Amino acid sequence: MSYKNVWTLSEQEQGKLKEVSFELLKRGRALADKRKVELVAIVLGHNLDKDDLQKLIYFGADKVLVVDAPELEYFLTDPYVNVVTKLIENHKPEILIASATTTGRTVAPAVAIKVNTGLTADCTGLDIDDEGHLIQTRPAIGGNILATIKTPIHRPQMASVRPHSNQPLDIDKSRTGEIVYEEIDKELLKSRIKRIEFHENEEETGNIQDAEVIIAGGKGCKTEEKFKMIKEIATLMHGAVGGSREAVDLGWISYPHQIGLSGQTVSPHFYLVAGVSGAVQHLAGIKTAENIVAINNDSEAQIFQVADFGIQGDLNDILPVIINKLKERKEGK
Ligand SMILES: Cc1cc2nc3c(=O)[nH]c(=O)nc-3n(C[C@H](O)[C@H](O)[C@H](O)COP(=O)(O)OP(=O)(O)OC[C@H]3O[C@@H](n4cnc5c(N)ncnc54)[C@H](O)[C@@H]3O)c2cc1C
Repeated sequence: MSYKNVWTLSEQEQGKLKEVSFELLKRGRALADKRKVELVAIVLGHNLDKDDLQKLIYFGADKVLVVDAPELEYFLTDPYVNVVTKLIENHKPEILIASATTTGRTVAPAVAIKVNTGLTADCTGLDIDDEGHLIQTRPAIGGNILATIKTPIHRPQMASVRPHSNQPLDIDKSRTGEIVYEEIDKELLKSRIKRIEFHENEEETGNIQDAEVIIAGGKGCKTEEKFKMIKEIATLMHGAVGGSREAVDLGWISYPHQIGLSGQTVSPHFYLVAGVSGAVQHLAGIKTAENIVAINNDSEAQIFQVADFGIQGDLNDILPVIINKLKERKEGK
């Protein structure tokens, strides 16, 4: 049996599919169309939401391959790696793409070792050439170059893609496809690790990767005390706090809140950013932000090149005005 079709590794939590599962389908659909093959979304979990499985088809999959077992309810390395490996051995996909999330970054390398193939992690671009080679692009050497990587000999060709580096396709309810449940040998579901408890990261104002509203600050805030204005606006707007690498290095905000090449990629509906110059490494993390409002006292700042709305001025004057307006609105004035 020769290797055929493009696969995406979906992710779920408590039976509901995560957004990254739909984002991956857009990448996968483009590759499958070029190769004129099927796009298959694989899903591992337990008591999976049937509407969500159908949605995978509406968002681009031709087929959904499901393994449902109590042992797969939560992500655990051993059973997930064993099951994905077995699926690959059984069906021989030509390409497998995962999201570069904690799950994807754990499963994909372990699977690649098991099936003896290569993996390019954290790709920002994927394409396919006429011979069916996956062209995997990712920043390398500290982000200073973009490397193009191929897996010319081994199959499947595997890559992980930055979460939120693209939007999903538009939903198309006229799309049809099949949902297939696959039985797996119980032996493969055994785990050396047991999940005892789960604690959500309750730090500051939550997970920025899924946030619709992000308020971010940079070195222009000058002190930690001033950076607190960023946090206050985020709280008032029920948004998340982000920071440039400088803000993180200065200890004003923790690393999970760093936005950019070596931090998180975000795609909020609204991104308010103050005192950030807009270095290329920062901009790499906000490519898919929908509405960017930038505050900077330097009219030449790079951030204004990508902003939908720019305010040139001192953030020490502007941020307090925003805070007061939001407070007034909250109090119904
Ligand atoms: C390999 C590599 C990876 C990197 N990864 C990241 C990353 O993930 N994320 C990231 O952000 N950076 C990253 N960087 C660093 C990046 O190159 C910049 O150094 C950084 O983004 C600059 O942070 P900043 O904009 O807060 O500070 P600065 O560049 O110092 O900008 C401060 C801005 O504040 C403005 N300002 C000053 N005072 C005021 C005021 N009173 N009111 C209004 N505006 C004011 C200034 O005009 C200036 O534009 C990376 C660099 C490398 C080499």
